[in-house]
Amino acid sequence: MKDNNCIFCKIANGEIPSATIYEDESFRVILDLGPASKGHALILPKEHFKDICELEDSVASKVLPLAAKIGAAMKKSLGCAGFNVVQNNGAAAGQTVFHFHVHIIPRYENGPSMVAWTQGEETPEALAETAAKIKSAL
Ligand code: 5GP
Ligand code: ZN
Repeated sequence: MKDNNCIFCKIANGEIPSATIYEDESFRVILDLGPASKGHALILPKEHFKDICELEDSVASKVLPLAAKIGAAMKKSLGCAGFNVVQNNGAAAGQTVFHFHVHIIPRYENGPSMVAWTQGEETPEALAETAAKIKSAL
């Protein structure tokens, strides 16, 4: 299913041109317009899913192998030292385009620096309480 108001549906299906680095029947992989580093790419399914919770298993199962393939090609072709695989769900998590996508962000020896969290502390009791809450909703 496509969403006529969704820019990533239009890009993924070729209605809007993009710097495409890979395409198959299920996905288009493009370069991000506002890259965090040289080569920053986005994996877009051709079907519209709002986020990871809506994604069909048949599509989801192909995403990580594709991310690995793209990342390996970046290391060979761009000389990055590594890469991050990032995927945001919900505005609170930084999602700005509500068509599921995966960022592949090359990391070079000299950067870029990426946002990281500060490690907190939690007692075993508090961890158990939180774990029980999440388990009850699975
Ligand atoms: P999000 O914040 O939703 O995880 O990521 C959305 C990403 O899409 C951002 O990194 C943004 O730069 C990129 N983006 C938004 N609109 C376009 C577009 O029209 N073309 C391309 N190539 N990237 C886009
Ligand atoms: Zn869409």
